[in-house]
Amino acid sequence: MYQGKVDLHLHLDGSLSEDVIIELLARDGKTMPLAQIRDSIRVPDHCTSLVEYLKRFELPTQVLQTEYAMERAAYDLVERLAAQGLVYTEIRFAPQLHTRKGLSQEQVLRSTIRGVEQAQKDFPTIRAGLLLCSMIGGEGNAETVELAKKYIGYGVVGADLAGAEGSVPIETYYDLFRDLQREQVPYTIHAGECGDPENVRKAIELGARRVGHGCGAIKSESVMDLLARTQTVVEACVVSNLQTKAVLDAKDHPIRPFFDRGIAVTVNTDNMSCSDTTLQREHAVIASAMGFTDAEFLRMDENAINGAFVSEEEKKALLQKLA
Ligand SMILES: [Zn+2]
Repeated sequence: MYQGKVDLHLHLDGSLSEDVIIELLARDGKTMPLAQIRDSIRVPDHCTSLVEYLKRFELPTQVLQTEYAMERAAYDLVERLAAQGLVYTEIRFAPQLHTRKGLSQEQVLRSTIRGVEQAQKDFPTIRAGLLLCSMIGGEGNAETVELAKKYIGYGVVGADLAGAEGSVPIETYYDLFRDLQREQVPYTIHAGECGDPENVRKAIELGARRVGHGCGAIKSESVMDLLARTQTVVEACVVSNLQTKAVLDAKDHPIRPFFDRGIAVTVNTDNMSCSDTTLQREHAVIASAMGFTDAEFLRMDENAINGAFVSEEEKKALLQKLA
């Protein structure tokens, strides 16, 4: 079976390993039984909504409040992805969520960059870039955008808008995206996760080169056409979508119609720890529910490389690593 080699949609906090949580708690003089850690971070089978899903981020956020913790988390994640055979990943996080103990967003970012850089030196089979998330309803977004502009090309490859989609209309962030665009910082936007096709249309109109999830697009012929015509990359996260009930049954996931329509869809994990998933698990679920072939999985990895926020030269080199 084809092994996935690219993950473009992966949250640092939602992918924090249990081992690192234990280590970070211990540094703070705390202990917590493994079963309790698991219960705190893993989405239960009876999860009913995205809002409930997002509660799983409290413990990871609580421990990710020091420079050491950010560096360690980033290093550990890249190390695990390299061990799984990935050749490229874009890891996203919101610096403003890690300032509870007094770090500045820039300190948070620099520590994370250090972890990613060291891991790439130690595990040279993988390349990794960072996406800086602004948060829906967040108060530190202007600073995050400034950091994205300052560090683009220096560990940061792009930006994102995350959080509870729909609680604020995404066009509220028009100025933020215009600012990123002006400085040529590419970005993706979480859009259509909870079913609204108009958010996908708006994300494309706001200049997003990629959309996170995009599930809602399936409800609108014109949005499907727009995705295909603009070749906007869709970052599908199937296991996560089943857990948040964005999609109720794997066989109904729009990844199949997206693919068949020629939309540049990709396979991603979203949150390896909260969703208890890996690219391998995503592939297994997608293959068994929708009969994707190895050639089709390879095609989706090619879509991911083509949509990666790297230079054309880097894309060529990465495409060669897929076969
Ligand atoms: Zn996400």
